[in-house]
Amino acid sequence: MRQARIRPFSYAIVATLGLVAIWLTPALEKKQVFPMPPVVVTEPGLEPADFLLSPLVVKASNSELVDTLAIVGVIHSSLYNALNESGVGVLPAAARHKLAWSLADIFEYKVDMSRDLSQGDKFHILVERLQRPNGAIIVNKILGARLALSNSHDPLEAIHFDPPGGGSTQYYDASGTSLRAAFLRAPVAFRRISSIFGSRKHPIFGEWRNHTGTDYAAPMGTPVRAIGDGVVIFVGRNGGYGNMIDIRHRNGMVSRYGHMRNFAAGMRPGMRVAMGSTIGFVGMTGWATGPHLHFEIRVGGVAHDPKLALQSKGGEPIPPSERALFQRMRNQTLASLSEAHVPNATE
Ligand SMILES: [Zn+2]
Repeated sequence: MRQARIRPFSYAIVATLGLVAIWLTPALEKKQVFPMPPVVVTEPGLEPADFLLSPLVVKASNSELVDTLAIVGVIHSSLYNALNESGVGVLPAAARHKLAWSLADIFEYKVDMSRDLSQGDKFHILVERLQRPNGAIIVNKILGARLALSNSHDPLEAIHFDPPGGGSTQYYDASGTSLRAAFLRAPVAFRRISSIFGSRKHPIFGEWRNHTGTDYAAPMGTPVRAIGDGVVIFVGRNGGYGNMIDIRHRNGMVSRYGHMRNFAAGMRPGMRVAMGSTIGFVGMTGWATGPHLHFEIRVGGVAHDPKLALQSKGGEPIPPSERALFQRMRNQTLASLSEAHVPNATE
């Protein structure tokens, strides 16, 4: 502290001495005295040299830098790993990880990210990258994405669109239909599943044979969420299902959740639940040898394959007044996605 105060003072003395020296030197012609250019410090925190006579200018950028980045890749082990590899050198590790979750959020009405991904799946992501004045680099938003699943014919596409009227930002498919649909594809809060994003080995939990549900391995206590808006029609113990909840949805379909450790507070028949709300917690009650959620979709009292039953019924379309703008954005986004190629990979 003391030194910091002394320093400007000593600069002033040195500067004065310098001027006096110039003034006292008769041989020195006026033209030999050059104004010194300012010393520019571009990195705040860099110490200027001592005995500096030049004015000091510290330059720091206040503005954020934004650019667009295409990230493409093929899943070999998991989406996490694939994004991690493709994004090296252009995004910091934290941003690469966050990108995997953001992608899961965008497609969570279309793809069960904990089960549907497999080796050979390809992704193209158009990312708005932002650099903060302090140098931190983040993903500002995903402008568009294409996910080509190897077991599905048509690639899934997502186009980011901000309605100019101030409506909420959404992702739409190429035809202008919102990706937000009536049902989530996974009943478990997938951020809590450790084996997420590409593990095709699903453990077996010693349940009854030929059951038509889907089993989600998850740690004890992982929140279980309602896949859509609906009314609770059963809460309680039900034989092999253990602690079970049934929810009836508007289209008459019933979603069933079994083996739960316990239910969320206040769960009772007749209660309305919203899509995504927590209804209970993963356990291993009933016929189960390990903690997991047993999930079923029932239509007319018969269990159906959730993958088929939950195939997206389609969300809201873009309002006609915004269609022209959306189509321009879409064409631009899809063109940028198509331009990007997987490096060193055979398509
Ligand atoms: Zn099961």
